[in-house]
Amino acid sequence: MSLVVVGSMAFDAIETPFGKSDKIVGGAGTYIAWCASNFTPVKQISVVGGDFPQEELDSLTARNVNLEGVQIKKNEKTFFWSGRYHLDMNSRDTLVTELNVLGDFKPEVPESFQDCEFLMLGNLAPAVQLSVIEQLKNRPKLVVLDTMNFWMDVAMDDLKKLLTKVDVLVINDSEARQLSGDYSLMRSAKKILTMGPKYLVIKKGEHGALLFHNNKVFFAPALPLDEVFDPTGAGDTFAGGFIGHLAKTKDISFENMKTAIIVGSAMASYCVEKFGTERLRELTKEDIAERLNEFVQLVHFDINLV
Ligand code: AMP
Repeated sequence: MSLVVVGSMAFDAIETPFGKSDKIVGGAGTYIAWCASNFTPVKQISVVGGDFPQEELDSLTARNVNLEGVQIKKNEKTFFWSGRYHLDMNSRDTLVTELNVLGDFKPEVPESFQDCEFLMLGNLAPAVQLSVIEQLKNRPKLVVLDTMNFWMDVAMDDLKKLLTKVDVLVINDSEARQLSGDYSLMRSAKKILTMGPKYLVIKKGEHGALLFHNNKVFFAPALPLDEVFDPTGAGDTFAGGFIGHLAKTKDISFENMKTAIIVGSAMASYCVEKFGTERLRELTKEDIAERLNEFVQLVHFDINLV
């Protein structure tokens, strides 16, 4: 039984008010794989061009990421995305999206991935995400979907169809408002929970994340950090930590999802400390335990209710 991850593998160029990166390796699937592989082996589905560095693929393989589902299109170029962050480091403008190999990506699920128990649908066209679900002979125990405003703008009908097939949707607050057409986050959550997913996670950047299920709500803060260097991939890393923890513990109860949100938040707090995937690549089990402990300290309090 395994965790299958689908998502873009990319080159990114990032500008923040404090610095600028050259073309570096990024992509939703890449961040998810680097993060989730701390908790459980990953089976990856994606596509790259001949220009994607072999060393990156080798490093992922060494981290227990099975790349049998990653197509390499030798004569084509890898997906390229470029973004510029505003001073608040929370909002950003997309400067360039060159789909390249992603433009006509047709994922193929290898036979050895058919044991998929946990499926993480990272950011990609909804029709592509759907085609992975449709290729699986048995429905996974849990399907988690990440998406973004871009797909709501250009493929809302496909996205709505896909929503009926997933268990958990992970989006940020502005995406929740766009999807529901409602400014109130509580009302948005209620509406989105009628569209298919049984669980909804709304990320609020430095203000933490909310988990909704039926009439229950859970809130997890983000770790207050002295400095955010590059927020790119924080959402994907959050999703990787969330599903990585669930796949490792094989427990999909609401209670365990609360813990999974804390794990996702802890991993995302590491991601933003350096450009690209750099910080995630060097993390040790001790680092992760240390940060989880900081979360426990941050939210723990005693109260004597008389
Ligand atoms: P995040 O900061 O978590 O929203 O994710 C940023 C990552 O998403 C970057 O590494 C990009 O390469 C990737 N990305 C940006 N736009 C898209 C898109 N339209 N489809 C797939 N991946 C994307």
